[in-house]
Amino acid sequence: MEPTYGDYEVSTVEGIETLQQELVKINNMSDYSDVVEAVSDLLMNGHDGSSGYLSFGNNKIAKSTAIFNMNSATDCPNADTSENEQSDTGACQVPWESCYAHKAEYMYPNALPKRRRQEYLWDNLDAHTFAKAFLRVVERKRSTVDTIRFSESGDFRHESDIIKVNSIAKILNNHDIDVYTYSASHKLDWSYATHFTVNQSNGLADYGDRLFTALPKGSDLPDGMVWCAYDISDGERKCGECKLCINKEGPDVAIELH
Ligand code: SF4
Repeated sequence: MEPTYGDYEVSTVEGIETLQQELVKINNMSDYSDVVEAVSDLLMNGHDGSSGYLSFGNNKIAKSTAIFNMNSATDCPNADTSENEQSDTGACQVPWESCYAHKAEYMYPNALPKRRRQEYLWDNLDAHTFAKAFLRVVERKRSTVDTIRFSESGDFRHESDIIKVNSIAKILNNHDIDVYTYSASHKLDWSYATHFTVNQSNGLADYGDRLFTALPKGSDLPDGMVWCAYDISDGERKCGECKLCINKEGPDVAIELH
């Protein structure tokens, strides 16, 4: 599917009406603790026709890390860009045809509508409610959750996304929850990201907390750069167990280009 850069008809997204009805119900609640509980339900369990809007871990990420997408790869502001063909926000270092997040959206028919509903949810929740609902999810889960990663697919669209994640992180940091992301939106003002860790995934500007880049296996690394622990442990050590990209302090990271 061709990139849309966010220009798509929301009303055509599968399941959007059900999500909208859930949000109307939530907006009509008079007790804020009911609001938080209902949003935590959406994040954890979803609604009719949708699984929860948070996921926990994947092949590379430990289950103690929650993942929330602010948008899809198809709608990513940096989709199908490069150093020579940049978008208004940035430039992706991964060729469009190799983008895993985009591949998932045409291989699994539920992936794109779900991510679009995540974007809708993101745009319709304030930072305080998102953070409080997330903390409620952490309380309700049987297993430990100590980290949240934003944007497994897509990227930051504008400074409001940065400010909102930062407001959430300010609240979550007080509960020992780490917040991190990767972004190729190098043209945005990242000085707002004071409370979460930003891995800069292109080398076109100096932003965020470290460079995160892909290099051919066996390359000599520049000073101050280390290989990704997942790659060099053959998948034994997952993100979350390794905190190199989660901590603000620490070296630049290279993943192996296959
Ligand atoms: S360096 Fe660590 S935190 Fe970063 S991607 Fe690799 S395993 Fe994950």
